[in-house]
Amino acid sequence: MRIGQGIDVHRFSEDPHRRLVLGGVEVEGARGLGGHSDADAVCHALADGVLGAVGLGDLGRHFPDTDPVWEGADSVALLTAVVRMAAEHGFACVNADCTIIADWPRLAPYTDAMVERLSTVLGAPVSVKATRAEGVACLAVVLMEAV
Ligand code: MG
Repeated sequence: MRIGQGIDVHRFSEDPHRRLVLGGVEVEGARGLGGHSDADAVCHALADGVLGAVGLGDLGRHFPDTDPVWEGADSVALLTAVVRMAAEHGFACVNADCTIIADWPRLAPYTDAMVERLSTVLGAPVSVKATRAEGVACLAVVLMEAV
């Protein structure tokens, strides 16, 4: 068994056209986050947790934000690629637990959809909780087993 943790923080974007996507779910009526990809802090924290558990560095190493290929990238696709990388190294997810820290918007109506989407991507149970503070951040821990 291996455990990994991930944290990601994004500021809200000044661009009114950016969508807010967290855990692969669009949160309606909310300002998007700034970032090179779609700025899905939940997917990024989870991906760093998976990479950390397997000892593969961090998300930025595999998907540099200087590379135009990843501009506006769908972070569910990045997370899927990271899970595949872990599998290539002989590891599968056992479970993951995420805490999203955001003062606004209210995320409770969206967490069930995030759980469903992320559990499918990881192939293991994912829990998503939300707590309030200024800005948006996400913490994740992931347990992996050798397969
Ligand atoms: Mg990020």
